[in-house]
Amino acid sequence: MPQVRVRFAPSPTGVLHLGGARTALFNYLFARHTGGQFLLRIEDTDKERSTEAFTQAILEDMAWMGMRSDEEPVVQSSRLSAHREALQQLIDSGKVYKCYCTPEEREAARQKAEAEKTSYQYDRRCLGKPEQPGVPFVWRFQMPTEGETVVDDLVQGRVVTPNSELEDLVIARQDGSPLYNFVVVIDDAFMGITHVVRGKDHLSNTPKQVQIYRALGYPEPVFAHLPLILGLSKRLRSAGLGAYRDAGYLPSAVSNYIARLGWSHGDQEIFTEEELIEKFDLADVNRAEGALNLDKMAWLNQQHIQMTPPEQLAALLVPFLQKAGFPEMSLDHPRLLPAVATMRARASTLVEMAENCRFYFVDDDALEIDEAAKGKHLTQEACAHLRALADALASTTEDWTEAGIETAVRQFIAAQNLQLKHIAQPCRVALVGAPKGPGLYETMAVLGPASSVARLRLACSHHNP
Ligand code: GLU
Repeated sequence: MPQVRVRFAPSPTGVLHLGGARTALFNYLFARHTGGQFLLRIEDTDKERSTEAFTQAILEDMAWMGMRSDEEPVVQSSRLSAHREALQQLIDSGKVYKCYCTPEEREAARQKAEAEKTSYQYDRRCLGKPEQPGVPFVWRFQMPTEGETVVDDLVQGRVVTPNSELEDLVIARQDGSPLYNFVVVIDDAFMGITHVVRGKDHLSNTPKQVQIYRALGYPEPVFAHLPLILGLSKRLRSAGLGAYRDAGYLPSAVSNYIARLGWSHGDQEIFTEEELIEKFDLADVNRAEGALNLDKMAWLNQQHIQMTPPEQLAALLVPFLQKAGFPEMSLDHPRLLPAVATMRARASTLVEMAENCRFYFVDDDALEIDEAAKGKHLTQEACAHLRALADALASTTEDWTEAGIETAVRQFIAAQNLQLKHIAQPCRVALVGAPKGPGLYETMAVLGPASSVARLRLACSHHNP
């Protein structure tokens, strides 16, 4: 097989949503799996709806997911002269003709077909018409009328279209500016694309494009049309990747999730990025539509949070902590890495994790204590224990490790004739502000001796003896 060259060809008329990201990802994984090339083409010929801001946003979202074009992205609008040359080639070989029909005439024909309950197809009334100087026109491509066009789609299987059903489509405006079905063929051929992998919504365009490949004498690529993505509301389905990033999803979890929309490898659910590359093959893409499921996505995100090494997770968490009220947060904050290590198993998004980690980073005297927990756990009796514990810990600070703290606490409860249950929850409420959180000793280890002792004392200041 010649080297695989695939492309993702977004139109910068909107943000990158999950469906688009999945198309990009399947192209990317196929390229990496086969040792081929993954390319990007910005299809910006719709000048009215395309913007530079959308182009940048799409590139950023792709970079967030770890996908970069192996070559300089091709910008479709910069290739106009090549498109015009290809049009000239078709004019010279008599494969296109001028259509002088007005939009009103076409609309009337469409309405007539609708009234007669037949499907509308342009009736070639301008084919062979004499030149009409000065009358506006568009270029139509003359499709064959006999035989059929066969596409052996890697996902959809053999798709046979009778040529009589292929409309003579408009491929360029009068000024030579080309339209989608034409330009996509010219640019894919120019970029040496071997496999066109895209959404199934383009399947019906494919036989038309195949005829254009043949008319231009270009080699035909292999096609793979991915199943559509259903489920969720249209709003959520079309939400940009940025919405998932801001909601605290990890790029590796998003990749894992969308890879499984239409592709499977046995019954494996969790994949690292390396495993996706190793195991992905277009041959394993299913024809069945994939349905989005946010619960599943949150579950996968949680799995990926647990799988991600603390250093990497800490870097991903920093912007979320900055947003959660710690604008100065940075990777070198001494509590960040140990805090992440203790919280990793407990959150399904980075937003949740940042929220859960707040108590580690607030000033000791600014820690808010849940009122109900205060009433229940910080009783006068418990506070007497906590104050005594604070005094005991204040003098055992030299071995401030989880094990050292545990030893000190156990010695304290033995000396006081207490049991752990008498102080565990009060302690946690004093340190965390709520009756939940990581293990007591690990929490204290992260907070350090000064903060731990201060929090135990501060929490009980309402019961001053
Ligand atoms: N620009 C087209 C789209 O966004 C891409 C079509 C194709 O991949 O051929 O749908």
